[in-house]
Amino acid sequence: MKTLLIATHNRNKIREYAEILAPLGYEVKSPADYGITEEAEENGKDYRENAYAKAKFIADRLKMPVIADDSGIEIKALGEHFPGIHSARWAKTISPSGDYRVVNQHVLELLKGAKDRSAEYHCCIVLLRHPDDTPLYYEGVSKGHILEEIKGSHGFGYDPIFHYDAGNLDFGMCSDEEKNRVSHRGKATRELLAFLSAPHLV
Ligand code: IMP
Repeated sequence: MKTLLIATHNRNKIREYAEILAPLGYEVKSPADYGITEEAEENGKDYRENAYAKAKFIADRLKMPVIADDSGIEIKALGEHFPGIHSARWAKTISPSGDYRVVNQHVLELLKGAKDRSAEYHCCIVLLRHPDDTPLYYEGVSKGHILEEIKGSHGFGYDPIFHYDAGNLDFGMCSDEEKNRVSHRGKATRELLAFLSAPHLV
């Protein structure tokens, strides 16, 4: 089993990565497994900059290869790329305790009567190999729309109001496996894996 360190304290992300990577022979570790509880500040202007800041923060402390991701949902009716890179922080302004039932209900209120309910999830993974610190980026998008009501409680965050169009899937109703097959994070991770399993690394 190979080890991949993921610079996140988000248990939902760690769970999804572990599920995607375990069948491919990777064990996922988080900074907490190495005694690190702090994390980088997210003040980048895009997914790439935030992902890089998170990975660099941990790579500087542990001096080993690390990946990090930055992700978010973009809901057309709420503005260009909004909440996007602010998805987690915006949710906190609506529910400081991080209760996404409240956040998702609020989004549904904001979208009442909206004609365009299109939305997309974005994920950008960065890999910092050690000692080579040239960042390599892998990106994934999943396109869909915001449902008229909360549906299911699977996944996390905005999933119970997200419908993935191409596969006709409600992320709040489907299994992690079904979601990972088509999700922004699943797509970006498979790009990363294609690189990691290439012969040049052996
Ligand atoms: P990050 O930890 O800064 O990347 O925050 C990403 C935020 O975007 C999460 O806290 C969620 O609010 C949202 N998000 C990203 N990916 C997903 C997903 O797969 N499902 C639901 N919400 C997501």
